[in-house]
Amino acid sequence: MDITNSTPTYPTRSLQFLKRVDSPSKGAYVSKTKEPAKVKFKVIIAGAGLGGLATAIALALRGHQVTIFEQAKELGEVGAGIQIPSNSSRLLLKWGLGPHFEGKVVQPEGMSFRRWQSGKRIGYTKLVPDFQEKFNAPYYVIHRAHFHEAMHKRALEVGVEIEVDSKIVDYDFDRPSLTLENGSVHAADLIVAADGVKSLARGIILGDKDQLPRMTGFAAYRATVPVEKMQADPDLAWILENNGLHCWIGDLRHVMSYTIAGGKSFNMVLSHPEKSDPSTWRQETALEDMKQQFQGWDFRLTRVIDMVKSTIKWPLFTGYPLDHWVAPSGKALIIGDAAHAMLPYMSQGAAMAVEDGSALATILSTITSKEDLVPALRIFEHVRRTRTSQMQHASLINGRIWHYADGPEQRARDEGMRPEVEGRQFVESPNQWSDPVTQEWCYGYDADAVVLEAWEEWLRKRDSETIG
Ligand SMILES: Cc1cc2nc3c(=O)[nH]c(=O)nc-3n(C[C@H](O)[C@H](O)[C@H](O)COP(=O)(O)OP(=O)(O)OC[C@H]3O[C@@H](n4cnc5c(N)ncnc54)[C@H](O)[C@@H]3O)c2cc1C
Repeated sequence: MDITNSTPTYPTRSLQFLKRVDSPSKGAYVSKTKEPAKVKFKVIIAGAGLGGLATAIALALRGHQVTIFEQAKELGEVGAGIQIPSNSSRLLLKWGLGPHFEGKVVQPEGMSFRRWQSGKRIGYTKLVPDFQEKFNAPYYVIHRAHFHEAMHKRALEVGVEIEVDSKIVDYDFDRPSLTLENGSVHAADLIVAADGVKSLARGIILGDKDQLPRMTGFAAYRATVPVEKMQADPDLAWILENNGLHCWIGDLRHVMSYTIAGGKSFNMVLSHPEKSDPSTWRQETALEDMKQQFQGWDFRLTRVIDMVKSTIKWPLFTGYPLDHWVAPSGKALIIGDAAHAMLPYMSQGAAMAVEDGSALATILSTITSKEDLVPALRIFEHVRRTRTSQMQHASLINGRIWHYADGPEQRARDEGMRPEVEGRQFVESPNQWSDPVTQEWCYGYDADAVVLEAWEEWLRKRDSETIG
């Protein structure tokens, strides 16, 4: 072994400094591939959700010709807030979303975990300036509608064509082409289906190997409260200080909250156990049901919940690692929630779709002939399947860590987070935003670098087999 140049075979960051030699300001996170694609593809994307738009922007920036077909008559997002963690914001800012985020994003100073009954702080992750410094990208929160609007505007700026009121009713992945409800057929070099949890494409690609995302036994209420209402209550104003994220955790339930809309609106996701069929839910009783679920919790929290005027109840699904994402023809694939639905407990579902889009654009832009499309998609699938199945698992694990009833595990958990609250050094934490190993894996992940490394490795093997 060449001991001077060998890559470490153990987990370490001790050689990261070498990546800063050529680019001291950017640290480790510099995409090597900003260049335009060598082979240009005509790409059709199914679905203009956050995943479809992210992929469209990333591909168009490399010079591919991209059209999105979206079933909705108008573009937009329902729901309330969404977190944009650093692993995602780094890519979005690189794609030029910055100006569209201005005045819309909020940068929370930190994330506090709180005891369900008293609201006492039991865990704490400092986000500013820590995440910018460690991961070279901010941690944002934003209203979903603003996020979607920003992505939509950027997609149009970079030349993406978006066809609304265009429901896809069938695919031919061998050609590849798709058929819209109005009967028109559209062909391309590649079809990327970002058509969400209820994906039509997933069933066609996987056939009898399809695994539908499953109910998790949990549902979430999503709601917002005007910040000015909370400011008027002396018991509540502290919750808004420094735009912090606050997560109250207790027996089988939690409430994740933060300020959105440039600081004007307080957003809550209230997770609770729910085993019944969503088709039996009545949105008319959702507000009262929500209050019932959190009776006896921190009086400050329930006072905010009492200010909510309307709420929507969402089922929470999780997918499981799928057998494959790419159609047998190698000319179509699924991404985003269609490929890897997950519990929102790591706040990473859309972030994974952004990573998918970036990794896909990176690998497609590196290939030098159309024949390499199939192996490139297989490498993409392998890399992204690994990453997203780990995130699905991490999200499920948070459901375990957060939802202990008061007892020995809860006390051990709270004790494990105590050093981060007291500002002491720690090498492990039950808080997955703080645990040093989880933090680096989650937010330090460079989707472009990982897929590129896997592709270069595949090329080296192919070349050595050809020579051999
Ligand atoms: C309560 C909750 C909180 C969350 N919080 C976060 C968070 O903080 N951070 C985070 O990163 N993620 C979060 N997520 C996850 C995130 O919302 C999703 O992962 C993300 O929105 C998925 O995007 P997508 O584009 O893959 O799918 P979708 O948003 O479902 O988009 C699919 C699109 O395809 C269209 N479509 C579907 N079928 C067809 C068809 N046949 N023809 C044409 N168009 C079609 C749909 O109309 C839709 O526009 C949260 C999720 C929930 C439920």
